[in-house]
Amino acid sequence: MFGISRFSMFARLARALFGSANDRTLKAYQRRVPEINALEPAVQALSDDQLRHKTDEFRERVAKGETLDALLPEAFAVCREASRRVLGKRHFDVQLIGGMVLHAGRIAEMRTGEGKTLVGTLPVYLNALAGKGVHVVTVNDYLARRDAEEMAQLYSFLGLTTGVIVPNLSDDERREAYASDITYGTNNEFGFDYLRDNMKYSLAEMVQRPFSFAIVDEVDSILIDEARTPLIISGPADDSSDLYRSVDAVVAKLVQEPDVFDKDEKLRTVTLTEHGSDRVEQLLHEAGVLQEGGLYDIHNVAVVHHVQQSLRAHTLFTRDVDYIVRDGKVVIIDEFTGRMMDGRRYSDGLHQALEAKEHVEIQQENQTLASITFQNYFRLYPKLAGMTGTAMTEADEFAEIYNLEVVEIPTNLPVRRIDTDDEVYLTAAEKYNAVADLIQDIHKTKQPILVGTTSIEKSEYLSHLLTQRGIPHNVLNARHHEREAIIVAQAGAPGAITIATNMAGRGTDIKLGGNVEMLVKANTEGVEDETQRNAVEEEIRQIVGTHHEEVQKAGGLYVIGTERHESRRVDNQLRGRSGRQGDPGNSRFFLSLEDDLIRIFANDRMGAMMQKMGLKEGEAIVHPWLNKALEKAQKRVEARNFDMRKNTLKYDDVMNDQRKEVYAQRREYMASDDLSGVVAELRVHTIEDLVHAHIPEKSFAEAWDTEGLTKEVHRILNLDLPFADWAKEDGMDAEGIIDRIEAEAQKAQAARTANMGPELMRLIEKQVVLTSFDAVWKEHLHALDQLRQGIGLRAYGQRDPLNEYKQEAFQMFTAMLDDMRLRVTETMCRIQAVSEPPPFPVVDTSQTQTSGPAEEPVPHELQAPPQPAFGFAPSPVPAAGEMAPAGGEPDTETLARWFETTPRNAPCPCGSGRKFKHCHGRLD
Ligand code: ADP
Ligand code: MG
Repeated sequence: MFGISRFSMFARLARALFGSANDRTLKAYQRRVPEINALEPAVQALSDDQLRHKTDEFRERVAKGETLDALLPEAFAVCREASRRVLGKRHFDVQLIGGMVLHAGRIAEMRTGEGKTLVGTLPVYLNALAGKGVHVVTVNDYLARRDAEEMAQLYSFLGLTTGVIVPNLSDDERREAYASDITYGTNNEFGFDYLRDNMKYSLAEMVQRPFSFAIVDEVDSILIDEARTPLIISGPADDSSDLYRSVDAVVAKLVQEPDVFDKDEKLRTVTLTEHGSDRVEQLLHEAGVLQEGGLYDIHNVAVVHHVQQSLRAHTLFTRDVDYIVRDGKVVIIDEFTGRMMDGRRYSDGLHQALEAKEHVEIQQENQTLASITFQNYFRLYPKLAGMTGTAMTEADEFAEIYNLEVVEIPTNLPVRRIDTDDEVYLTAAEKYNAVADLIQDIHKTKQPILVGTTSIEKSEYLSHLLTQRGIPHNVLNARHHEREAIIVAQAGAPGAITIATNMAGRGTDIKLGGNVEMLVKANTEGVEDETQRNAVEEEIRQIVGTHHEEVQKAGGLYVIGTERHESRRVDNQLRGRSGRQGDPGNSRFFLSLEDDLIRIFANDRMGAMMQKMGLKEGEAIVHPWLNKALEKAQKRVEARNFDMRKNTLKYDDVMNDQRKEVYAQRREYMASDDLSGVVAELRVHTIEDLVHAHIPEKSFAEAWDTEGLTKEVHRILNLDLPFADWAKEDGMDAEGIIDRIEAEAQKAQAARTANMGPELMRLIEKQVVLTSFDAVWKEHLHALDQLRQGIGLRAYGQRDPLNEYKQEAFQMFTAMLDDMRLRVTETMCRIQAVSEPPPFPVVDTSQTQTSGPAEEPVPHELQAPPQPAFGFAPSPVPAAGEMAPAGGEPDTETLARWFETTPRNAPCPCGSGRKFKHCHGRLD
């Protein structure tokens, strides 16, 4: 204790002598304020046109190489003057400082009511001059619209365009909004657009431009609170429960018969014998699962996949050894620890096959198609800035995670709010009664009251107490942003009582007496007549004016906290609602020993102290020491939460690096109109791998596995080549074989191209490359997820789970790229012109690919090429037929156009009613 207080004394002394770091930072900015103010008379003398023309002049100067920093004083002066003329608001000096802090890519901590929305216009205007787009990020759509609407007046006066991104916009509308000089929107919209853009098929379809600068309003809400959960785009995996069941019935019967399968216990693989293949086909026909064609026909690929997984479920997996059945669920047993892995699932349909085998409900799976954390999304911006009323308590996190420095900006007018010490009660019930008593007392004076609670449930409890006492009040619970904004705006009216669950990020400030602008807006809606509107406005102004006086006299807004939140920041947000712009006000927090925070983190000492004081029912203790003890508890929780977020992020960073690489590569593919070279490259690579897998280095021909090679080349490249004969040739080696295969593959490819026309082939190549890439990436995400969930168990072996995760994730990434090569090659080697469309129904087999590392919870056999099961392709054989101009079928030119213009999920233009990707756009 002594040491600490001596240290803090020294710190105080040092601050007095040298000023705090914040003071010094501020001074540097403050020095530029007179410079901006000095320009004011000259700028005021300009006509509206001349003022607007300044934007053109600035743009030219930027184009000629003048830095934005150098332009700052003039640009700020012009923006301030335009705001004065258009909005009737002239930026205060402290707002100029806030603007400079934002321009510097830092966080401006400015209290509620300091006018941060207006502050934002300064750096927005300055940075928009560079023409690369500025994003302004808000916490909800209502605020995005509201702020864009208001500030667009200013920006358009200055010759800049403004766009807003809200839900349900078309891509064209989004593209236009992003092409604007300034774009408002929520973190969710920006983030989802980013993810969606990276799932598109051409650059022209993308909606976002490259990122340049983002200003995040309520930055703590977005970068800390919301950053706890990532953005995820997911889609349901295709539901084929019925197929699982009918296939299961067949396979259950099949495995009872002799000589139907070969099992390799060590490799944990199982394949059907030739006899087994015949039998299963027969049984499937009998069961009506196969209606036409053989099992190995291309349109029965999905069935094959199901058969394979079902076979594995029946022969390789034993109940109560590999898994148990509990509460109607198949739960995996970890083979190393023997622990049950609740919630984990085998991928790729295996888990469903087990569920079918055990006759329990087959769970529908949701698949992650793309995901990103806000941390990693916002790190994509070359320059990032933020503003909020409460950032200082989280300064370390902002610095460490986002490299953002927090600068505390002084208020425009001195704060007059009176903060009373916390009151602590023994029980929650006593506490709420005390709160209700206080509300009842204050309400008599018409002083408006804002009550904060930590949950909707508690809001309702308090509301119930007030209703019992006949006290009128409003309850907010963050569901209707617009309606709530109006209630919040009126929370400063005489006698208003507002109970709110979470005042963070509500973005509407409480004005004493009421909010003229919102009242006018609400009351003049639909009123066409200008004079009538003006009359209404005038009346409202007068009423609010007298109300303002009244509330000022009553002491301003009284804020009551009914609990302390885990984080000091949230308490500060609530408290900060009172005392804006030099208004009077009060704040007081009520606590009880039953509150979570105290119960969990501060109970021992506090309880002992309360006991000592001999507290009686209904009595509270109030002591500055209590506030300090609570603050300490809060700091501990904050630190713990930060650690947790940091840890999550470390894992996400691994995936983030991979995502960046994938997106960059994908973007290259998207940008190109001719991927024939890429396709050839992938093919050559695949051929090399194939040959080396069957021909050991420097070996004699006798040691070659020509039979295996023949099968694999047939399976993957769709070629039948006489390897046994070639092997007999003099001087033939692996390189020679590779060259011959490639020559044949090229020939076949050339024939396909000639058949189809190069134009269509180019489109198909692009589609195949992109869809294959997406498919393997999707599977990889899934596998990473599983790895991540399972990796905690490794910690038992005293290994660092993060390191393990990193290493395996890297191996899996390499395996994913191998898989991608293989898929593209397989598919491209089967693209052909046939005249009949596949029979209905078509199963989207992209969901049920087999190869890749996603098989087991912890993937093994990472480098192993996919096992040929049944002697044919385990991955779907492409059915990319229906390309030929046969009766009623579109000609090549039409098809080419369809490919270019039809989204994959749109109905097929042929009118079949099926999705394009399942019909004429079907590739894989
Ligand atoms: P914050 O986001 O900092 O809590 P807002 O941006 O919501 O504050 O602004 C609070 C209120 O102050 C708004 O009504 C706004 O129009 C007003 N305001 C902001 N700056 C000024 C100014 N320079 N002059 C007059 N009113 C201002
Ligand atoms: Mg705001």
